[in-house]
Amino acid sequence: MGKLDGRVVLITGAARGQGEQEARLFVREGARVVLADVLDDQGEALAKEIGARYVHLDVRGEDDWRAAVAVAKEAYGRIDGLVNNAGILRFNELVDTPLEEFQQVVQVNQVGVFLGIRTVAPEIASAGGGTIVNTASYAGLTGMAWVGAYAATKHAIVGLTRVAALELAAKGIRVNAVCPGAIDTAMSNPAQLDPDADPADSERTSRALDELYRKLVPLGRIGRPEEVARLALFLTGDDSSYITGQPFVIDGGWLAGVSVI
Ligand code: NAD
Repeated sequence: MGKLDGRVVLITGAARGQGEQEARLFVREGARVVLADVLDDQGEALAKEIGARYVHLDVRGEDDWRAAVAVAKEAYGRIDGLVNNAGILRFNELVDTPLEEFQQVVQVNQVGVFLGIRTVAPEIASAGGGTIVNTASYAGLTGMAWVGAYAATKHAIVGLTRVAALELAAKGIRVNAVCPGAIDTAMSNPAQLDPDADPADSERTSRALDELYRKLVPLGRIGRPEEVARLALFLTGDDSSYITGQPFVIDGGWLAGVSVI
């Protein structure tokens, strides 16, 4: 028996990184999964490999959301789970952040989650209930220099999660948030994506990041996307049946307190 047998789950930003690992794990646990992303070639290939459906979904667009729901229902008859995972990160000091950049981050991270909840929650309700997992961040619970726009949107996602949990509980929908710390994906190490990068440079960057996290994170390492996927599984399956409206930190202890050792 899989932990998600019989469930139909839509995962945004699922072509790579944490969304990819969530899709892989959810399929292994018996779910029928719809992978959504703007990286169509990667998304299609992954869906084919794991036996899932892919749909192009730019989370900023209402029409894309409506079309994605139609694809999921046509393929599997209903939707009873949503993982709002798509997100982008931009580094800048607040006083130097162009309005356009700030709004770009808000559109993907915050508006994307809002549209996801608004579009998919009625479908989950009509399927008899289910779950929504929103991807916030440790930067949704604390400040972090150089990521003002990102941190603002991730705080907003925690707020949206709480409000959605209150409004949707009566419809049988639980809504929670994952708050990852540093996780080893393209977002934390974009060198992973650059085909022209000198392998020696990439290796040096990875070693420097390893050293950084060894000092900063109590558990002494960066997190793996598979570890976040296991938390998303917990919040999507029945093991979390009495939990709603909560942010869950998964950060190797980084937010536990100020470390002086
Ligand atoms: P990633 O960059 O590998 O994955 C992000 C995915 O979102 C990509 O597949 C990308 O194509 C997709 N995406 C971007 N814009 C989109 C749009 N407009 N519509 C649809 N899809 C879009 O990085 P990741 O680490 O896997 O990120 C997943 C989530 O985890 C994000 O919300 C991110 O903010 C959050 N997060 C990441 C970390 C980390 O250290 N990696 C830490 C905390 C939170």
